[in-house]
Amino acid sequence: MVLITARCAKALQLTLAVIKPDAVAHPLILEALHQKILENKFIIVKSKEIVWQRRDSERFYAEHKGRFFYQRLVEFMSSGPMWAYILAREEAVSHWRALMGPTKVFRARYVAPGSIRAGFGLTDTRNTTHGSDSEDSARREIAFFFPEFSVAEWMESAEPAFRAGP
Ligand code: UDP
Repeated sequence: MVLITARCAKALQLTLAVIKPDAVAHPLILEALHQKILENKFIIVKSKEIVWQRRDSERFYAEHKGRFFYQRLVEFMSSGPMWAYILAREEAVSHWRALMGPTKVFRARYVAPGSIRAGFGLTDTRNTTHGSDSEDSARREIAFFFPEFSVAEWMESAEPAFRAGP
């Protein structure tokens, strides 16, 4: 409890993180990624395994429709189970993005060799993780994956309790 108090001296932020089908297919990699989440001081607010239909994939990635990788992206994202998380910590959005590394795996290996995508990504599409890129997209994406969850309610109730400590 003392640790939680100390690390939550600043306001918590929520982000949406996803472990994509390429990683979930390998239990050891999934386990390593769970460890990474915890080692990096994220609080797991909610998590679940999820399988997308193709239409879910198309809806989530609608902004990329028409781009050269769109078809293979929507196929890949509905090809098997994924794990989705609502994560909390200070600056959760930027911390998770930094931990993921750049979108393109081969670039990640050069510029962020310790990142998740550098370590575990297979291709620019099968790149292991997703993370919201702003507080606004986190809110939208949390609602997409966890429609029953209210960010506002959590911020009102749970967040101050975490911050206050014992
Ligand atoms: N993607 C791809 N080829 C590309 C760029 C992106 O297959 O050249 C896929 C990749 O899986 C990526 C997703 O499309 O994670 C969404 O792309 P975005 O630009 O939003 O990158 P992200 O925010 O995931 O880093």
